[in-house]
Amino acid sequence: PLPVLAVVGRPNVGKSTLVNRILGRREAVVEDVPGVTRDRVFYQASWSGRDFTLVDTGGWERNVSGLDLRVAEQAEVAVELADAVVFVVDATVGATATDEAVVRLLRRSGRPVVLAANKVDDARGEADAAALWSLGLGEPIPVSALHGRGTGDMLDAAIAVL
Ligand code: GDP
Ligand code: MG
Repeated sequence: PLPVLAVVGRPNVGKSTLVNRILGRREAVVEDVPGVTRDRVFYQASWSGRDFTLVDTGGWERNVSGLDLRVAEQAEVAVELADAVVFVVDATVGATATDEAVVRLLRRSGRPVVLAANKVDDARGEADAAALWSLGLGEPIPVSALHGRGTGDMLDAAIAVL
């Protein structure tokens, strides 16, 4: 079986956009509205000659009071079946309490994590990405899933730990 790379993070941070960028086609469903219910979706992907299974996550309910818990649960299931994780944070928003909750479960999982600081569409966003060192997951890799900026570096880091 191929190694599994799971993409986790809050709704609307750009996980599905990043998955499409990695696949090189628009297959994952991109939503402008956060919280749309989706199950985990599996894709076959490759980078630098390495084949792997890529998991896009979603599936939480639009339940404001329970949102943190639902996101954490969803991420937990995906992380359990993953060999490595890409944790996507919206660098333009910064680390939220939900992000911190996901970080705790990622730590407990023991899985290697690559921190993707998304929505860094140009050089001005680099400082936003650097602020995510505060999550304690190591170097935030600035990416723009939308434009492809930095995604190659992010994939290099991911397959190095996969
Ligand atoms: P998901 O809920 O985490 O899967 O997020 P989506 O991939 O559905 O994206 C949510 C919204 O963020 C969409 O409107 C995307 O176009 C937008 N988005 C995703 N990546 C980027 C990015 O790198 N830059 C910008 N500016 N917007 C992005
Ligand atoms: Mg999505």
